[in-house]
Amino acid sequence: MSTALLEIEDLALSFAGVRALDGVTFSIDEGELFAVIGPNGAGKSTLFNCISGIYRPGSGSIRFEGREILGTAPHRIAKAGIARTFQNVDVFPAMTVRECLLLARHQHLRSGPLAGMIRWGRSAREERAALRRVTEVADRLGLGDLLGREVGPLPHGVQKRVELARSLCMEPRLLLLDEPVAGMNHEETAEMAATLSEVNSDLGITMLLVEHDMSMVMGISDRVCVLDFGRRIALDTPAGVVRDAAVIDAYLGG
Ligand code: ADP
Ligand code: MG
Repeated sequence: MSTALLEIEDLALSFAGVRALDGVTFSIDEGELFAVIGPNGAGKSTLFNCISGIYRPGSGSIRFEGREILGTAPHRIAKAGIARTFQNVDVFPAMTVRECLLLARHQHLRSGPLAGMIRWGRSAREERAALRRVTEVADRLGLGDLLGREVGPLPHGVQKRVELARSLCMEPRLLLLDEPVAGMNHEETAEMAATLSEVNSDLGITMLLVEHDMSMVMGISDRVCVLDFGRRIALDTPAGVVRDAAVIDAYLGG
């Protein structure tokens, strides 16, 4: 019996002859904060897009809770409990934070072919539950006082938090984060790292964190997988990874 939530096996995908992923294998345990790092072009976003169903790998397998999800449509993968954030903030600027979070929740609960048929059934009780969840998530992420504010004028670091809050409103079992600190300053980066760590330990949400910035992931990750040119060059604890000769080579260009 394995406690793996996500199992990636021998995943490969090429774009016009470029091997973006070249036989990548790893698995993530329930409750783990697992990081995939690597230089630009290493295949991190490609891996991400394979797991969320946007790209179809040429070969390999992706199992979630023991079931093969390779070839499953993105909205079904989301519904199965895998939520994701995007590398670039993707929110409607004229919406309030509250509206943004409610929308994310409704879109998630109402996605799929039956959405139109069951929309009439949305009850007042459901609405209250949604609002409660949204308020809880906002409080946890330090957005509680900003629920009535428009998203557009908020600082970039706060918008990234809204993006994270949106994915948490979907109550995921696995959260995929693509470079959550991209474009953030040092202070915002430290805050986001602390928040991710808290969400992982307090809410018990398993995370796959994809990052370019090696130092950011070292303090918060349980294990780190290092990609370079689409290949796994290391898989270890943070302490093990920083001592790994192949990793030092890839990062220092040696
Ligand atoms: P990372 O996120 O680690 O920076 P990517 O997964 O974006 O890396 O890219 C891995 C490799 O695949 C790169 O060589 C990139 O140019 C190529 N690649 C990624 N997406 C596409 C695409 N849609 N079409 C063609 N090549 C792509
Ligand atoms: Mg990327």
